[in-house]
Amino acid sequence: MIAGDSRFPITIVTGFLGSGKTTLLANVLQHEEYKNTAVIINEYGQVGLDHRLIRRIEEKTRLLSGGCICCNMRDDLINELKEILNEKERGENDMDRVVIETTGLADPAPILFSILMDPLLTNRFYVDSVVCCLDAANGELHLQNNPETLKQIVTADRIIVTKTDLVDHERLHQMHHRLHHLNPAATVYGTAHGIIDPTVVFDKGQNSQNNRLEQLTEIQEKYRDKKVEHDTEVRSMSIKFYEALDWTAFGLWMSMLLYTHGEKMLRIKGMVDVGEKGPIVINGVQHIIHPPHHLEDWNGEEKNSQIVFIMKGLEPHQILESLVAFQNILGSAPYIEEINMNPYGG
Ligand SMILES: [Zn+2]
Repeated sequence: MIAGDSRFPITIVTGFLGSGKTTLLANVLQHEEYKNTAVIINEYGQVGLDHRLIRRIEEKTRLLSGGCICCNMRDDLINELKEILNEKERGENDMDRVVIETTGLADPAPILFSILMDPLLTNRFYVDSVVCCLDAANGELHLQNNPETLKQIVTADRIIVTKTDLVDHERLHQMHHRLHHLNPAATVYGTAHGIIDPTVVFDKGQNSQNNRLEQLTEIQEKYRDKKVEHDTEVRSMSIKFYEALDWTAFGLWMSMLLYTHGEKMLRIKGMVDVGEKGPIVINGVQHIIHPPHHLEDWNGEEKNSQIVFIMKGLEPHQILESLVAFQNILGSAPYIEEINMNPYGG
């Protein structure tokens, strides 16, 4: 908090699909100092998964799902922030800061405008910092192909290059150079496995607050031709399996899927039941599957496998057909939880 300022800080965490936002947040929120952080997560489909992963650390996670807080869910975000304040006033929460994790496809500028233009909110909150995660391995591709990534980078106060263990020094150096060129005002950090000093994410108000609106207006003006219009070819699908899966067969199926459709698979994430004491968390971004992460237990959750796919130019039935073909060796049949053909309703 800024000295003499009783307002609560808001940190906005952006970054394209699979850039490591959730991993980063899960890591920094483990620190005792940030235990009273209210976390708002915006997920693409109705059925979210990130909040399941974060909730293991942060019980008070709030999910805004089924749309995007940079366009059709701006009012929902504002209402959620007001609700957090009301609860605080009634003594129902210990909130001392808020983190908003956007979807990977969000433009942070309209989100910031919504907060900064609301008199009640600006009276009680200030925007502490905008943090953008960029995946070291796929970041260059995302910058080239997605106006969302560019807008996230130029709006950020802090850019965190994630998964630095996946690329060599030379490539990292080039990326830093590019980022500095795009947004000279931002500080660039690097992390492997989401491990970073939490003060990098939580700025403690060192940045001047007064000129944020002016800066934003300038950015909007400069990147007017890079207006984010969410891609109508983006689809999401969530499937569940109610019986344990054969891990080897599942791995084989996923490798084949990414080998064939990697370019079109923006994101795969999931919690998989392989009949062990805890689930395996899987994470894939385009052609890359990250090493699976074994969790110790189910943390009281329903024991089933849930996998969320976000794709561009690939139809859900193509994935389903390949799953059905593998069904016998996988050990369980897929159930469709949600297919989202047009998450932005426009
Ligand atoms: Zn949006």
